[in-house]
Amino acid sequence: MSHLPTLEDLGDLEGKNVLVRADFNVPLSDGEIRDELRIKEALPTLKFLVKNGANVTVCSHLGRPKGTIDPNLSIEPVRKRLGDLLPEVHLLENLRFNPGEENNDPNFVNTLIQGQDFFVNDAFGASHRSHASIVGPPQFLPSAAGRLLAKEVDVLMAIRQKPRRPFVAILGGSKVSDKLGVIDTLLGVVDKLVIGGGMCFTFLKAQGNQIGSSLLEESQLKYCETLLKSGAAIFLPHDFTTMDSDGQIGDPSAGGVVRQTGINIPDGWMGLDIGPGSAAAFGDIISDSKTVLWNGPMGVFEDNRFSAGTRHVAQTMAETRGCFTVVGGGDSAAAAKEFGFADNMDHVSTGGGASLELIEKGDLPGMAALAASPRLV
Ligand code: AMP
Repeated sequence: MSHLPTLEDLGDLEGKNVLVRADFNVPLSDGEIRDELRIKEALPTLKFLVKNGANVTVCSHLGRPKGTIDPNLSIEPVRKRLGDLLPEVHLLENLRFNPGEENNDPNFVNTLIQGQDFFVNDAFGASHRSHASIVGPPQFLPSAAGRLLAKEVDVLMAIRQKPRRPFVAILGGSKVSDKLGVIDTLLGVVDKLVIGGGMCFTFLKAQGNQIGSSLLEESQLKYCETLLKSGAAIFLPHDFTTMDSDGQIGDPSAGGVVRQTGINIPDGWMGLDIGPGSAAAFGDIISDSKTVLWNGPMGVFEDNRFSAGTRHVAQTMAETRGCFTVVGGGDSAAAAKEFGFADNMDHVSTGGGASLELIEKGDLPGMAALAASPRLV
């Protein structure tokens, strides 16, 4: 892994101009911030810089405006809130209003670093992207990892390199194909790999089970079959909460029948959550572990008819004593928060894609850029 320079490595900050890349990609509705966690999490770094006399300019993306100015995605609500919390810092407009951000355009990088002495990356959730504001400034400015980025890297690299055992990874979410790299890496590190969510059905089908009309990735059947035959310690669900074809996900009033099945799901039925037996079995595996990494919901948790499996995994993690629990961002972090268990986890990552890529590769483009940045003379 690249060695990450810290804020202290920047030396004397008095009167220095510092550009900070933060992740202020907060959820908005009608121009109001629905969850300000990302703003709060950037404060330790920003406060450190201000306290040490730096002139701080912060930049972030917000949503996906795709290189055009979209007034609904203006960073203004964040600017207002940040103004209340830390009025000393200056916040630039949404980076993704400029096509140069996602294209990593050198001219855009040049604009960003104008007049700046140092660069700090605290946007862990965006550090797997080679975007201008992530990999550009460290080519020119002495740079450091902010507190949040440094903590994410410490935690995730520690469980990758020296986990307390038994170490269990629980993967869910919709697709096997999104997680191939991480499955391969995890199988080299974990004692047990538990697979739920939509992605388990391709494994179950590869084992010869009936999966009805559940999610299937035909192109991954061979891969799943090979893994299962390799003798790897993979644990799959054996019962399901399913719905027939009259039902609609997210709309209980549309009708349809929801019922439990065993491992074989009849034609016309779709597996939308792991069943109670599997949830209990996964819970037992968690309770017997010393490290748990969880990424991806066990079912369509957004619809509360199919949220029980995900809730049980989150609850068991939160309640297991003496176990180091890490939630890998994205939907699992959202679920842990929604069910009220996030505060009882040891670490809830702020980056879904970034945490998976860091576990898979042991490095990220944003980290490598910091490690290669010019040193102070
Ligand atoms: P991903 O984006 O791959 O992490 O997947 C997250 C999504 O997977 C969530 O929106 C869940 O609703 C969805 N999901 C989880 N389990 C299932 C399932 N059994 N069938 C269909 N979608 C699922």
